[in-house]
This record gives sequence, structure tokens and C-alpha cells, in this order.
Amino acid sequence: MTKNVRVRFAPSPTGPLHIGGVRTALFNYLFAKKHNGTFVLRIEDTDQNRYVEGAEQYIIDALNWCGFPFDEGPNINEKFGPYRQSERKHLYKQYADELIASGNAYYAFDTADELDKHRKDHEANGKTFIYNWHNRLKLNNSLSLSAEEVQNKIETGEDYVIRFKSPQDETLHLKDIIRGDIKIDTNILDDKVLFKSDGMPTYHLANIVDDHLMEISHVIRGEEWLPSLALHVLLYRAFNWEAPEFAHLPLILKPTGKGKLSKRDGDKLGFPVFPLEWKSPEGDISRGYKEDGYFPEAVVNFLAFLGWNPGTEQELFNLQELVEAFNLNKVNKAGARFDPDKTKWFNHHYMQEQDNLKLAEAFKNHQEELKTIDVNYIEMVVSLVKERATFINDFWGLSHFFFTSPSNYDEKAFKKAIKDDTVEILTKVKSIITHIDDFTVNALQTDIKGWITDNNIGFGKIMMPLRLALVGALQGPDVFEIMFLIGKNETVKRIDNLIEKI
Ligand code: GLU
Repeated sequence: MTKNVRVRFAPSPTGPLHIGGVRTALFNYLFAKKHNGTFVLRIEDTDQNRYVEGAEQYIIDALNWCGFPFDEGPNINEKFGPYRQSERKHLYKQYADELIASGNAYYAFDTADELDKHRKDHEANGKTFIYNWHNRLKLNNSLSLSAEEVQNKIETGEDYVIRFKSPQDETLHLKDIIRGDIKIDTNILDDKVLFKSDGMPTYHLANIVDDHLMEISHVIRGEEWLPSLALHVLLYRAFNWEAPEFAHLPLILKPTGKGKLSKRDGDKLGFPVFPLEWKSPEGDISRGYKEDGYFPEAVVNFLAFLGWNPGTEQELFNLQELVEAFNLNKVNKAGARFDPDKTKWFNHHYMQEQDNLKLAEAFKNHQEELKTIDVNYIEMVVSLVKERATFINDFWGLSHFFFTSPSNYDEKAFKKAIKDDTVEILTKVKSIITHIDDFTVNALQTDIKGWITDNNIGFGKIMMPLRLALVGALQGPDVFEIMFLIGKNETVKRIDNLIEKI
């Protein structure tokens, strides 16, 4: 790639960022880093009616948490700033004027009621009203009115919009890196509004002007913007600007594979669709991956596979590996099915890669019962149970017996483990344990296993009741490790408790 790669993620701050948006940001980031380029964040907040307090900060926090912050954007490296469109308002009008002067755009004065009437009239005749070449000369605009009339309307402050004059009878050949060549008949395009009389540009104008001014080389965005591609390419042509290359990412589908994954699916199906928890200005709370106990590495890894794959069997990639492997040519056209179980599988994997001390600290903060327990002890426990854990939330269930004696015994386990000679055997095991001075896993193993072999007793006859005494159930890691960690006194006490119970 010879040109300087500059990509942008351009969300509108209308609420929390859906994971589809995070995926778009991630693919932009990967592409930028792969080509030593720049990843820009631009906030597209021209639609003030849809602006939601806190959404911009949420977007920034989400990118930071995921571990792929932007290189340029609000308050960061503002080379092409400002990066909020609301702060760039003054810039856009001149470009709309330029299009009018070059004959590529025109003023339109049709009121909302008039347009509504046209729509209804068309519907009544089984037709769809499209504002374009077909009828623009019959409508209320600077193409149908005289120059004086137009001048007069503008001077007297009549509301207007500026519309793009889409070409007639032309076949456009568009290129998309993911979708290949796309042909569009310009006769089906409507004359989109570019500028409104409130002084604000619409998405289309602001987006193209900013991509140009910010020297964006590649536009990587969701499939829902594909219908705008023709207009965008036409705008570049009208301005005589070189267009960036385009790549439209596939939709993310519901777990059933049918329909687009929506913000509401998370609540309905019981998994988060947002990276971070979101509290709306009305006080509604939506769950986030972070708060649900996911590691950012897991979220990044599963998002990368929504629409992309390396073409090999490898599924586990950290961010750096993704940067190296990523290629827009390997992104699929077809929608990517979201699989909540797979996200757990990734989390379980990244759990194993976490630092035990960090996990221990998080576990300690999370669990009331651990407030006074030494974190180094918790760390040893974590190292024994993490292979069975997907979330930090799982730790307590897997390890409570390292911190508290069993208060009762699992009924089934009790029936299975306790035989007529169990008390006798446990008493003997207890005495062996009591006599071990050097209380290590090794010494415990040697002495207990030695006694088992010498006396030719079934292994399970000892291990099952011993485990039951220590854990309260027939679960948990290696019994010798458990005894070692809880210590001699506690081990003996727990054996006594079970003997008493029998
Ligand atoms: N503001 C648009 C959005 O919210 C940006 C679309 C684009 O990337 O062109 O997704």
C-alpha cells in the first residue's frame, strides 16, 4: 500500500456503542496498525435531536477498555481538529455553496406538509415518491423557480434545504474492497438533503467533507451505510476530490442467524450487547461485557471473528497477532452470526493467561468473605482453580472450601463416599497426617499413598471420604494441594467433623 493510511471511526453519540460499532472500530484499528497508519476518532454529532449526554465519553472509555485507543481525535493529537462535527459547523456551508455554484446541488423550499402530500398522492396511485430527476422540475426549488424568486425566498428567511442533484441515466461503477464491483443505476437515487436551513449539514455532506479534510484514505464501516455509497462517490466527483477506498463490513446477526443483532436482543437473550455497562440519562441500565466479567482480550478476539477469519484453523489471537494477520480481503460479505457461547469459550482461554496475583486481587475485592485473607494465599488458590473458571465470578463456587470449612455435605456424595469402614480409615489417615512434620504436598502424597499401597486398600475408599471431609462434595482440585493450603490443623479438624457426622 503506497498511500498514507488514515482511517476513521465516526460514531454518532446517540447512546452507548453497540458491539457492532466496537467491531467497526476494531477493524479500522487493525487496518491502520497493519499499514502503519493512523486511527482517527470523529464524533458525528450534527443531529442535535439525537444527542445523548455521556455517549461520547462512553465511546472513548469503551475503546480504551478494549485496548485500541485512537491516535487522533477529540483532545488527542488534534492535527486535523476539531474532531466533533458540532465544532466544525462553520466549515460546511461553503461546500454546500460550492456544489450549488457548480450545478451539483440546489435549494429546495418544499415544506414538510407539501412533501407529505406528494408522498400520499403517489401512494394513492400505487407509486413511491422520490425527489429526483423524475419530478424535481415540478417541485418548489431553485431548478424550477426563477433566480429572483429564489433570491427573494432566501432573503425573506424562508426555510430551505440544499439537495444534491443526482445524475440521470447513468450507471455508476462502485468499488468495495469486501464486496467487489457494484453497479448502480443513478435513476433510482433520490436528491438527498445535504444542508438544512438551521445551518447544519446532514450526515452525508459533513461526512464527505470531513473525510476529505482529514485525509482519510479508507472508509471502513458497517453494511448499513452501503446504500449511501453511490451518493458519497458522486459527492467526491462533484467536488473533484479523490475518493477514499471503501469497505462495508457485514452485519452481525442474532444467535439464531436470522436478523440483525439489536440492542434489545441482549436483554431478551441474556448476554450483553455493549462493551461497558450503560446507564441512560433516564436511569435504565444495560449490561456490559466488562461488568459481566469478560476480559478485554476475549472481547477483542471474538469481535475480530465476527466477519473476519484468518483462513486457517487458528482462533486465538491477541491484538498484536490480529494486527499482523488482519486483511480486509478476508472479511466476508455474508452476515456474521453472533455466538454468545463462543464468547465464553474465549473468556475461559484468556482467564488462563491472566496474572494470578491480579486475579487474586480482583477476587478479593469481589468477595466479601475474602476481605481479611492474605492475597498471596488467594493467589495460590486461584492458581489451582482457574482452569475450571470462565469468570472471576466462578471462583467462589470453585474454591470456598479453601477459606471456610464445609458446613454441610452433599447428600449424594455422602452416600457414595461413606462405607462401613470409613470411620476406621479416616481415623488412620488422620493419624498419618498428624505425624507429618514437614507438611508439604509431597510429604502428604508419599505418606498417604504409601500407606494405601502397603495396606492394599482401594484408592477411592480413602480419597472419596477425604475429599468429602475437606470440600463437602466430591469436587475440587487435588486433595493433597487442598490439605497443604488449608494446613494441618484445619485438615485434621475437617476429618474430625466428618467422622462425627458419620
Ligand atoms: N456517523 C455514522 C455512524 O454513526 C458514520 C458512518 C460512516 O462511517 O460513514 O455510524
